[in-house]
Amino acid sequence: MNSIKDTVQLNNGVAIPRLGLGVFRLTDEKEGETAIEAALESGYRLFDTASVYGNEAIVGSSLKKAGIERQELFITTKAWNNELGYRRTREAFDRSRERLKTDYIDLYLIHWPLFDEAIEAWGAMEELLADGDVRAIGVSNFNIGQLDLLAEKTRIIPALNQVEFHPYLVQDDLQRECGARNIRLEAWSPFIRGGVFGDPVLGGISRRIGKNIAPIVLRWLYQKDIITIPKSSSPGRIRENSRIFDFELSDEEMRAIDALHRGEHLGPTPENFLDFFRSIGV
Ligand code: NDP
Repeated sequence: MNSIKDTVQLNNGVAIPRLGLGVFRLTDEKEGETAIEAALESGYRLFDTASVYGNEAIVGSSLKKAGIERQELFITTKAWNNELGYRRTREAFDRSRERLKTDYIDLYLIHWPLFDEAIEAWGAMEELLADGDVRAIGVSNFNIGQLDLLAEKTRIIPALNQVEFHPYLVQDDLQRECGARNIRLEAWSPFIRGGVFGDPVLGGISRRIGKNIAPIVLRWLYQKDIITIPKSSSPGRIRENSRIFDFELSDEEMRAIDALHRGEHLGPTPENFLDFFRSIGV
């Protein structure tokens, strides 16, 4: 039987778990530590943070405390918009690594496609990769045009693109195009931060299968071959989200969830993020 420790290979051969814990908004030390402890107990090995989340230090110390072998863990973090640029990214990386209390980061991502700074940042990330400071480098929130622009100007193809993807934003075209470029897709906000839980179609599938909507959505992503990183602060829900390997969705159920797509973005998009963040002063 498959398990939460199953991995897939990135384009440079590095293995990444298919399900992890997202920690956006987990900024309370005790809460963060409890969540990470519960996740490790349930078998999670992938942890997704970012410098802008303000909790790298909590992730780092919680993982250290748990005493799991470093090579068993897979830690992702991201460079924020004001950390892009050759020197800025080198320095931002050192800060993130120090906060995370680790010698290396498994996956380092450009958080948003801020050209031309992203091109320069990528040069720094290619060096980090060559020096063994990171095991893989990737991007987040890039559309296909932005991926192609990056490819035109740099050498290494991103290992992964982390994007908003959930039942109301089924980005099959993006997944196909990323696949054609040998780039893995990873879904953020798989539950639309709670927005999927009242959906009647998901409710019907949930009743039929006898599982709550959260594991149904995660199983749908798993069967679509998309890595995902649901966030929860509750040990019970963290456990629940790890239990997606003892049931299967039929083709019909998969299609019914795909059909919920309505192009709904919870967050900013690769096209409007600059205005969005400016408007909220981030
Ligand atoms: P999610 O879609 O993962 O939803 C999280 C919400 O769902 C929380 O309110 C949580 O509540 C609730 N929840 C979790 N599990 C269950 C469950 N089993 N039953 C009921 N409710 C549940 O939102 P996020 O935006 O946090 O996305 C996940 C991760 O993706 C982030 O943490 C971050 O790591 C990443 N991300 C990346 C972005 C990017 O730009 N690259 C942008 C946004 C997110 P509770 O905590 O109380 O359980």
